[in-house]
Amino acid sequence: MQSKANNSQDLGKGNVSPEASTLKPVSEEEPEQPVEDTSAAQTTLGNVLEAAEELWPKSLAEDWDAVGLVTGRTGQQISKIVMAVDPTLEVIEDAIERGADLLITHHPLLLRGVTQVAGTTFKGEAIHRLIESGTALLTAHTNADSAIGGVNDALADAFGLRDCVPLVESKDGLPEEGLGRVGFLEKPMKLEDFAERVYTVLPAVAGGVRVAGDRSGIIRKVALCGGAGDSLFGAVRSHQADVYVTADLRHHPASEAREAANGGFPYLIDVSHFASEWVWLSAGARALGNVLNDLGHAVEIEVSQVNSDPWDFVLTP
Ligand SMILES: [Zn+2]
Repeated sequence: MQSKANNSQDLGKGNVSPEASTLKPVSEEEPEQPVEDTSAAQTTLGNVLEAAEELWPKSLAEDWDAVGLVTGRTGQQISKIVMAVDPTLEVIEDAIERGADLLITHHPLLLRGVTQVAGTTFKGEAIHRLIESGTALLTAHTNADSAIGGVNDALADAFGLRDCVPLVESKDGLPEEGLGRVGFLEKPMKLEDFAERVYTVLPAVAGGVRVAGDRSGIIRKVALCGGAGDSLFGAVRSHQADVYVTADLRHHPASEAREAANGGFPYLIDVSHFASEWVWLSAGARALGNVLNDLGHAVEIEVSQVNSDPWDFVLTP
Protein backbone atom coordinates (compact mmCIF):
# COMPACT_ATOMS: atom_id res chain seq x y z
CA MET A 1 0.00 0.00 0.00
CA GLN A 2 1.61 3.21 -1.13
CA SER A 3 -0.50 5.60 0.81
CA LYS A 4 -3.22 5.23 3.41
CA ALA A 5 -4.88 8.54 2.65
CA ASN A 6 -6.75 9.19 -0.56
CA ASN A 7 -4.01 11.53 -1.57
CA SER A 8 -4.50 13.92 -4.42
CA GLN A 9 -0.80 14.68 -4.28
CA ASP A 10 1.58 11.98 -5.40
CA LEU A 11 4.08 11.20 -2.65
CA GLY A 12 6.41 10.10 -5.39
CA LYS A 13 7.07 13.68 -6.41
CA GLY A 14 10.21 13.71 -4.32
CA ASN A 15 12.00 10.85 -6.02
CA VAL A 16 15.56 11.70 -6.73
CA SER A 17 18.35 9.80 -8.26
CA PRO A 18 21.53 11.87 -8.10
CA GLU A 19 23.51 11.81 -11.29
CA ALA A 20 26.38 9.37 -11.37
CA SER A 21 29.69 10.96 -10.56
CA THR A 22 32.01 11.58 -13.44
CA LEU A 23 34.83 9.06 -13.29
CA LYS A 24 38.31 10.24 -14.08
CA PRO A 25 39.31 9.27 -17.65
CA VAL A 26 42.20 6.85 -17.83
CA SER A 27 45.36 8.66 -18.87
CA GLU A 28 46.65 7.62 -22.31
CA GLU A 29 50.22 7.88 -21.03
CA GLU A 30 49.73 5.03 -18.57
CA PRO A 31 47.90 2.38 -20.61
CA GLU A 32 49.46 -0.54 -18.78
CA GLN A 33 48.39 0.52 -15.32
CA PRO A 34 45.49 -1.47 -13.96
CA VAL A 35 42.43 0.75 -13.66
CA GLU A 36 41.01 0.85 -10.19
CA ASP A 37 37.29 0.31 -10.17
CA THR A 38 35.77 3.36 -8.50
CA SER A 39 32.19 2.42 -9.33
CA ALA A 40 29.30 2.64 -6.88
CA ALA A 41 29.94 -0.90 -5.68
CA GLN A 42 32.98 0.43 -3.84
CA THR A 43 30.99 2.77 -1.62
CA THR A 44 30.88 1.60 1.96
CA LEU A 45 28.51 2.47 4.75
CA GLY A 46 31.48 4.25 6.35
CA ASN A 47 31.71 6.53 3.29
CA VAL A 48 28.01 7.37 3.58
CA LEU A 49 28.36 8.05 7.32
CA GLU A 50 31.16 10.47 6.52
CA ALA A 51 28.93 12.31 4.03
CA ALA A 52 25.99 12.29 6.46
CA GLU A 53 28.15 13.77 9.21
CA GLU A 54 29.12 16.59 6.88
CA LEU A 55 25.46 17.40 6.22
CA TRP A 56 23.87 16.58 9.57
CA PRO A 57 26.58 16.73 12.26
CA LYS A 58 25.79 14.66 15.33
CA SER A 59 26.90 17.59 17.48
CA LEU A 60 23.70 19.42 16.41
CA ALA A 61 21.44 16.77 17.95
CA GLU A 62 19.51 17.60 21.11
CA ASP A 63 20.81 15.97 24.33
CA TRP A 64 17.81 13.64 24.64
CA ASP A 65 18.01 12.42 21.06
CA ALA A 66 19.44 9.17 19.65
CA VAL A 67 20.93 9.78 16.21
CA GLY A 68 23.42 7.88 14.08
CA LEU A 69 23.84 4.31 12.97
CA VAL A 70 21.31 1.80 14.34
CA THR A 71 22.08 -1.34 12.31
CA GLY A 72 24.82 -2.14 9.83
CA ARG A 73 28.58 -2.54 9.58
CA THR A 74 30.71 0.35 8.36
CA GLY A 75 32.52 -1.86 5.84
CA GLN A 76 29.39 -3.08 4.05
CA GLN A 77 28.82 -1.98 0.46
CA ILE A 78 26.13 0.60 -0.25
CA SER A 79 24.70 1.04 -3.73
CA LYS A 80 21.15 2.12 -2.92
CA ILE A 81 19.74 4.32 -0.15
CA VAL A 82 16.10 4.96 0.71
CA MET A 83 15.11 7.97 2.82
CA ALA A 84 11.94 8.05 4.93
CA VAL A 85 10.40 9.84 7.91
CA ASP A 86 9.57 6.82 10.10
CA PRO A 87 11.23 3.41 10.52
CA THR A 88 7.88 1.59 10.52
CA LEU A 89 7.71 -2.04 9.40
CA GLU A 90 5.91 -0.93 6.23
CA VAL A 91 8.70 1.52 5.43
CA ILE A 92 11.37 -1.10 6.17
CA GLU A 93 9.67 -3.75 4.00
CA ASP A 94 9.35 -1.20 1.21
CA ALA A 95 13.04 -0.31 1.46
CA ILE A 96 14.00 -4.01 1.39
CA GLU A 97 11.78 -4.58 -1.66
CA ARG A 98 13.44 -1.66 -3.43
CA GLY A 99 16.81 -3.30 -2.82
CA ALA A 100 18.12 -0.64 -0.45
CA ASP A 101 21.35 -1.34 1.44
CA LEU A 102 20.72 1.61 3.72
CA LEU A 103 17.55 3.18 5.08
CA ILE A 104 17.92 6.71 6.44
CA THR A 105 15.01 7.80 8.62
CA HIS A 106 14.31 11.06 10.37
CA HIS A 107 12.76 9.48 13.46
CA PRO A 108 14.79 7.12 15.67
CA LEU A 109 13.69 3.49 15.93
CA LEU A 110 15.16 3.19 19.43
CA LEU A 111 14.99 6.45 21.37
CA ARG A 112 14.95 5.00 24.88
CA GLY A 113 16.88 2.15 26.47
CA VAL A 114 15.76 -1.39 25.66
CA THR A 115 16.53 -4.69 27.37
CA GLN A 116 15.66 -6.90 24.38
CA VAL A 117 14.97 -6.75 20.67
CA ALA A 118 12.89 -9.95 20.43
CA GLY A 119 10.82 -10.31 17.29
CA THR A 120 7.69 -10.36 19.45
CA THR A 121 7.57 -6.55 19.41
CA PHE A 122 7.33 -4.38 16.33
CA LYS A 123 10.63 -2.66 17.11
CA GLY A 124 12.37 -5.99 17.67
CA GLU A 125 10.86 -7.31 14.46
CA ALA A 126 12.10 -4.18 12.67
CA ILE A 127 15.65 -4.82 13.93
CA HIS A 128 15.39 -8.46 12.78
CA ARG A 129 14.15 -7.54 9.31
CA LEU A 130 16.90 -4.93 8.88
CA ILE A 131 19.71 -7.27 9.95
CA GLU A 132 18.35 -10.34 8.14
CA SER A 133 18.09 -8.38 4.91
CA GLY A 134 21.47 -6.70 5.35
CA THR A 135 19.87 -3.26 5.41
CA ALA A 136 21.63 -0.66 7.51
CA LEU A 137 19.57 1.94 9.38
CA LEU A 138 20.76 5.48 10.03
CA THR A 139 18.84 8.13 11.96
CA ALA A 140 19.20 11.86 11.26
CA HIS A 141 16.74 13.52 13.64
CA THR A 142 17.26 16.78 15.56
CA ASN A 143 20.69 17.11 13.91
CA ALA A 144 18.86 17.19 10.56
CA ASP A 145 16.28 19.63 12.01
CA SER A 146 18.96 22.11 13.02
CA ALA A 147 21.38 21.70 10.10
CA ILE A 148 21.72 24.17 7.26
CA GLY A 149 19.62 22.76 4.42
CA GLY A 150 17.90 20.42 6.90
CA VAL A 151 14.24 19.84 7.74
CA ASN A 152 13.42 23.41 8.70
CA ASP A 153 15.28 25.02 5.82
CA ALA A 154 13.55 22.63 3.41
CA LEU A 155 10.18 23.67 4.85
CA ALA A 156 11.09 27.37 4.65
CA ASP A 157 12.08 26.90 1.00
CA ALA A 158 8.83 25.08 0.27
CA PHE A 159 6.85 27.96 1.80
CA GLY A 160 8.79 30.54 -0.22
CA LEU A 161 10.49 32.24 2.74
CA ARG A 162 13.61 34.35 2.51
CA ASP A 163 16.12 35.84 4.98
CA CYS A 164 15.56 32.96 7.39
CA VAL A 165 17.19 32.59 10.77
CA PRO A 166 16.67 29.84 13.37
CA LEU A 167 13.87 30.36 15.86
CA VAL A 168 16.26 29.07 18.51
CA GLU A 169 19.96 29.13 17.68
CA SER A 170 21.98 25.99 18.22
CA LYS A 171 24.11 26.13 21.39
CA ASP A 172 27.33 24.99 19.75
CA GLY A 173 26.64 25.50 16.06
CA LEU A 174 26.76 28.24 13.48
CA PRO A 175 24.29 31.17 13.66
CA GLU A 176 22.35 29.58 10.74
CA GLU A 177 21.90 26.33 12.67
CA GLY A 178 19.20 25.69 15.23
CA LEU A 179 15.58 24.70 15.80
CA GLY A 180 12.78 26.11 13.68
CA ARG A 181 13.11 28.99 11.26
CA VAL A 182 11.66 32.47 10.93
CA GLY A 183 11.70 34.39 7.67
CA PHE A 184 9.72 36.58 5.31
CA LEU A 185 7.35 35.98 2.43
CA GLU A 186 8.33 37.77 -0.75
CA LYS A 187 5.10 39.75 -0.56
CA PRO A 188 2.52 40.14 2.22
CA MET A 189 -0.41 37.77 1.73
CA LYS A 190 -3.72 36.80 3.30
CA LEU A 191 -3.58 34.11 5.95
CA GLU A 192 -5.98 31.93 3.95
CA ASP A 193 -3.83 32.22 0.83
CA PHE A 194 -0.71 31.29 2.76
CA ALA A 195 -2.57 28.35 4.35
CA GLU A 196 -3.50 27.24 0.83
CA ARG A 197 0.19 27.37 -0.12
CA VAL A 198 1.10 25.29 2.94
CA TYR A 199 -1.59 22.76 2.03
CA THR A 200 -0.37 22.58 -1.56
CA VAL A 201 3.33 22.07 -0.91
CA LEU A 202 2.88 19.41 1.78
CA PRO A 203 2.03 15.80 0.85
CA ALA A 204 -1.71 15.22 1.14
CA VAL A 205 -2.63 13.47 4.39
CA ALA A 206 -5.97 12.69 6.01
CA GLY A 207 -5.71 15.38 8.69
CA GLY A 208 -5.18 18.22 6.21
CA VAL A 209 -4.21 21.63 7.59
CA ARG A 210 -5.84 23.48 10.52
CA VAL A 211 -5.72 27.24 10.85
CA ALA A 212 -6.42 29.64 13.74
CA GLY A 213 -6.75 33.33 12.89
CA ASP A 214 -8.45 35.83 10.62
CA ARG A 215 -8.72 34.44 7.05
CA SER A 216 -8.18 37.91 5.61
CA GLY A 217 -5.41 38.89 8.03
CA ILE A 218 -2.27 39.98 6.18
CA ILE A 219 0.94 38.16 7.05
CA ARG A 220 4.57 38.61 6.02
CA LYS A 221 6.78 37.18 8.78
CA VAL A 222 6.48 33.41 9.13
CA ALA A 223 7.84 31.18 11.91
CA LEU A 224 7.94 27.43 11.41
CA CYS A 225 9.09 24.25 13.05
CA GLY A 226 8.94 20.87 11.32
CA GLY A 227 7.47 18.24 13.66
CA ALA A 228 6.08 19.06 17.11
CA GLY A 229 6.87 22.70 17.82
CA ASP A 230 4.64 23.85 20.66
CA SER A 231 7.66 24.23 22.95
CA LEU A 232 8.92 27.13 20.80
CA PHE A 233 6.04 29.58 21.38
CA GLY A 234 8.31 31.86 23.43
CA ALA A 235 10.70 32.21 20.49
CA VAL A 236 7.81 32.73 18.06
CA ARG A 237 6.57 35.65 20.18
CA SER A 238 10.00 37.19 20.67
CA HIS A 239 10.56 37.14 16.89
CA GLN A 240 7.13 38.80 16.47
CA ALA A 241 6.10 36.37 13.74
CA ASP A 242 2.73 36.91 12.08
CA VAL A 243 2.01 33.20 11.80
CA TYR A 244 3.48 30.01 13.21
CA VAL A 245 3.42 26.78 11.21
CA THR A 246 4.15 23.57 13.09
CA ALA A 247 2.69 20.15 13.90
CA ASP A 248 1.03 18.41 16.85
CA LEU A 249 -0.22 21.63 18.46
CA ARG A 250 -1.91 20.66 21.72
CA HIS A 251 -5.07 22.36 22.95
CA HIS A 252 -3.62 24.32 25.88
CA PRO A 253 -0.51 25.82 24.27
CA ALA A 254 -2.52 26.66 21.13
CA SER A 255 -5.47 28.05 23.05
CA GLU A 256 -3.25 30.13 25.34
CA ALA A 257 -1.26 31.46 22.37
CA ARG A 258 -4.50 32.60 20.72
CA GLU A 259 -5.71 34.19 23.99
CA ALA A 260 -2.41 36.04 24.40
CA ALA A 261 -2.62 37.22 20.77
CA ASN A 262 -6.10 38.61 21.52
CA GLY A 263 -7.25 37.52 18.08
CA GLY A 264 -4.18 38.92 16.35
CA PHE A 265 -0.65 37.62 15.76
CA PRO A 266 0.73 35.06 15.73
CA TYR A 267 -1.87 33.14 13.78
CA LEU A 268 -1.40 29.36 13.91
CA ILE A 269 -1.22 26.73 11.19
CA ASP A 270 -1.19 23.16 12.47
CA VAL A 271 -0.01 20.56 9.95
CA SER A 272 0.72 16.84 9.93
CA HIS A 273 3.94 15.94 11.74
CA PHE A 274 4.80 13.42 9.02
CA ALA A 275 4.02 15.83 6.19
CA SER A 276 6.08 18.65 7.69
CA GLU A 277 9.15 16.43 7.82
CA TRP A 278 8.57 14.51 4.58
CA VAL A 279 9.33 17.70 2.66
CA TRP A 280 12.98 17.40 3.72
CA LEU A 281 13.51 13.94 2.24
CA SER A 282 14.00 14.97 -1.37
CA ALA A 283 16.23 17.92 -0.41
CA GLY A 284 18.20 15.67 1.95
CA ALA A 285 18.55 12.97 -0.71
CA ARG A 286 19.80 15.51 -3.23
CA ALA A 287 22.30 16.99 -0.75
CA LEU A 288 23.57 13.56 0.26
CA GLY A 289 23.95 12.54 -3.38
CA ASN A 290 25.94 15.69 -4.07
CA VAL A 291 28.29 15.20 -1.10
CA LEU A 292 28.82 11.55 -2.05
CA ASN A 293 29.52 12.58 -5.63
CA ASP A 294 32.08 15.09 -4.38
CA LEU A 295 33.73 12.27 -2.46
CA GLY A 296 33.80 10.19 -5.66
CA HIS A 297 30.86 7.92 -4.93
CA ALA A 298 27.78 7.30 -7.05
CA VAL A 299 24.90 5.92 -4.99
CA GLU A 300 21.26 5.65 -5.98
CA ILE A 301 19.07 7.51 -3.49
CA GLU A 302 15.28 7.28 -3.41
CA VAL A 303 12.58 8.82 -1.24
CA SER A 304 10.18 6.35 0.38
CA GLN A 305 6.68 6.47 -1.05
CA VAL A 306 5.06 5.12 2.10
CA ASN A 307 2.74 7.51 3.93
CA SER A 308 3.50 6.85 7.60
CA ASP A 309 1.14 9.52 8.92
CA PRO A 310 -0.85 7.54 11.52
CA TRP A 311 -4.21 9.16 10.75
CA ASP A 312 -6.59 7.59 8.21
CA PHE A 313 -9.63 9.88 7.96
CA VAL A 314 -11.18 12.96 9.53
CA LEU A 315 -14.74 14.13 10.13
CA THR A 316 -15.43 17.86 9.90
CA PRO A 317 -18.63 19.86 10.44
ZN1 LIG B 1 9.41 14.48 13.97
